[in-house]
Amino acid sequence: MNGFSLNGPRVPFKHMRALVVEDDPGIASGLQASLRQAGYAVDTCPSLDAAWLALAVEPFDVMLLDLGLPDGEGLDLLARLRRRPAPAPGRDDLPRHDMPVLIMTARDGVSDRISGLDSGADDYIVKPFDANELLARLRAMLRRAGGRSSPLIQHGELVVDPAAHTVRRAGEPVPLGGKEFALLLTLLQARPQVLSKARLESALYGFDEGLESNAIEVHIHHLRRKLGESLIKTVRGVGYFVPLDAPAPPAKAARR
Ligand code: CA
Repeated sequence: MNGFSLNGPRVPFKHMRALVVEDDPGIASGLQASLRQAGYAVDTCPSLDAAWLALAVEPFDVMLLDLGLPDGEGLDLLARLRRRPAPAPGRDDLPRHDMPVLIMTARDGVSDRISGLDSGADDYIVKPFDANELLARLRAMLRRAGGRSSPLIQHGELVVDPAAHTVRRAGEPVPLGGKEFALLLTLLQARPQVLSKARLESALYGFDEGLESNAIEVHIHHLRRKLGESLIKTVRGVGYFVPLDAPAPPAKAARR
């Protein structure tokens, strides 16, 4: 694992940050690529020790857990996570003991799947798996974890479906890139809180993702171009936010 910062931001709002615990480098990098493509910030760990360290310093929304790891059983990590007491109200203690966990098992690993679910896994997927099935299972898990019966987020003329990764503006679909979508979702879920560039970077990117220094500005620029200049406000030198009052729909052009 690369040197990530211990004094990085603690992000209290929901975004999609995934930890992949997998010792097979091919599977790990394939998972990382698929998840990043879908807009997740992804970190990978090849061992239980590395995973526990990552969980202790960074907030993740979901963990994908291999069961056979060089330093022990994935189920031991799961049990350790689930044993942690709930954090005191108002504290954002890490790791989250109730974080959704998806275990990855071998085709003949029926007993693993049963003990995994009994140990607190939320779901499982059988290797080798289809990336689209994996993404659908993650969306379903995150939806359940969010506890929302209606997963849609409405803001003025925008309707965002976090599960389907779609955005409509005044009923018309607006295609967004994975990072653009994640950035929009993060800002909408935090509204009207101002989020610093560092917090947005932490929400959108893994520890080891190469990051252009102006990446956030570029995504904000694209979002404004696609969704309207007034949606996202800049607080110069501080960060960005989406106000609670949605911008009024654009006035019809006056005709003479
Ligand atoms: Ca393994």
